[in-house]
Amino acid sequence: MATNEDLFKKIISHSKEYGFVFPSSEIYDGLSAVYDYGPFGVELKNNIKTYWWKSMVQYHENIVGLDSAIFMHPTIWKASGHVDAFNDPMIDNKDSKKRYRADVLVEDHTQKIEDKIRKEVDKARQRFGETFNEQMYRTTNPRVMENLAKIETIKTRFYSSLEKNDLADVRALIEELAIVCPVSGTKNWTEVRQFNLMFSTQMGSVNEDANEIFLRPETAQGIFVNFLNVQKSARMKIPFGIAQIGKAFRNEIVARQFLFRMREFEQMEMQYFVKPGEELEWFAYWKKERMRWHTSLGIPAEKYRFHDHDKLAHYANAATDIEFEFPIGFKELEGIHSRTDFDLGAHQKFSGRKLQYFDQEKNEGYVPYVVETSLGLDRTFLAVLSHAYREEKLEDGTERVVLSLPAILAPVKVAILPLMKKDGLPEKAREIMDVLKYRFRCYYEEKDTIGRRYRRMDAIGTPYCITIDHQTLQDNTVTLRDRDTMLQERIPVNEIPVIMDTKLSL
Ligand code: ATP
Repeated sequence: MATNEDLFKKIISHSKEYGFVFPSSEIYDGLSAVYDYGPFGVELKNNIKTYWWKSMVQYHENIVGLDSAIFMHPTIWKASGHVDAFNDPMIDNKDSKKRYRADVLVEDHTQKIEDKIRKEVDKARQRFGETFNEQMYRTTNPRVMENLAKIETIKTRFYSSLEKNDLADVRALIEELAIVCPVSGTKNWTEVRQFNLMFSTQMGSVNEDANEIFLRPETAQGIFVNFLNVQKSARMKIPFGIAQIGKAFRNEIVARQFLFRMREFEQMEMQYFVKPGEELEWFAYWKKERMRWHTSLGIPAEKYRFHDHDKLAHYANAATDIEFEFPIGFKELEGIHSRTDFDLGAHQKFSGRKLQYFDQEKNEGYVPYVVETSLGLDRTFLAVLSHAYREEKLEDGTERVVLSLPAILAPVKVAILPLMKKDGLPEKAREIMDVLKYRFRCYYEEKDTIGRRYRRMDAIGTPYCITIDHQTLQDNTVTLRDRDTMLQERIPVNEIPVIMDTKLSL
């Protein structure tokens, strides 16, 4: 059994070998934390986008889409708080010269204590069997209680120092906890410094009145500044939502976890505008709804969990993350935040324009509250891919790597394979291809043995292969092979479209 780290490495190399993800600028030795999506990766990514877009925009009459520009007026980032506060505290190890986020070092430390607690609880569960009451155990067992208190003390001190911008104390805490650099193993740390994550560039000619502008670090602000344009042009009534898929850029300090933490990535965000006072109900609604969306992909519910924030950002009155169990552990996949009227209020102040919704029935205007669902497209890609990746030993002793992707997301839906490159089989196969290619993404291949071609289709996650053989020429039937079970059945050529329609919609 491969360790999780091995598994992660395998997924990365599989992604490259089979045309899902390439490191950016590879022939120039790459560009750190930037990736390109290959021929099958772009299909998978597009399918994820469509699945999200349909569930948000098509299935909700009161949610509409937007595609706002990446470049925006620089004052937007002043209003949103990003210029002053979109910082990560960073610390360097003088021996390894590696840079870390101070919060990540502290969180990894508390995670280790949590792991200890979990082990203790698991042991107790085995000892007590059915009668075991975890809640009671956690609140009465002295060792567990001591460790829980330790975590609480660390977190409280850390967050309060960060809030006060007392970076010297953050460093003192790292030293007191005896946290070592995972690379050098030493405690030889620099000071902690704040590092703004926004990329900036110049707009206009550099020598004349060039303006510093930023590459957006989130897509949300494009939605807020267009709130009235959208509401009026699409005649939306509260509650309503605006959805957007687009690139975001962050100069991440620690960026070495493949698609998990990239410097250029994509977000799928939806901002839901509600009446003040109703935001917590809608927050609960979207929490449930978004979890339902994730599990609708057929990935087991145990792979997801909520992580409610105990420390809320200044603009939020409720926040949770949906975490996914990646090969690198449970980590944030999506954020759901009740953002109050912070954003619209700030843009009103900075722009001097009213951003109010006018309630016709009550004949009064107000600044709506916002509930946001913010999902990383690349992290969803990684979640889906890592769950789908499987190495199997077959009955004949050989092995295969298969991506058991849900059919709706699979880059290629059907492969069309003439058994041999002669006797009129390729011509017959082309006839079938020419009908099917207008309905689904198909892949035609006649090179190599049929076994090899099946393996290649398994490796990119193609749910079905249609093989055209000599019998096809006699009775107009083909074999249909299922990726997961590897079972084959014979079906009539003229029924292929209907059968595929049914199977692929499952
Ligand atoms: P993290 O704590 O992991 O840095 P975050 O809380 O800053 O994430 P948000 O600002 O809430 O993230 O962004 C919403 C979503 O965008 C995240 O849940 C994640 O899926 C995605 N995302 C954020 N940063 C990155 C990144 N550097 N690379 C890939 N996806 C990202």
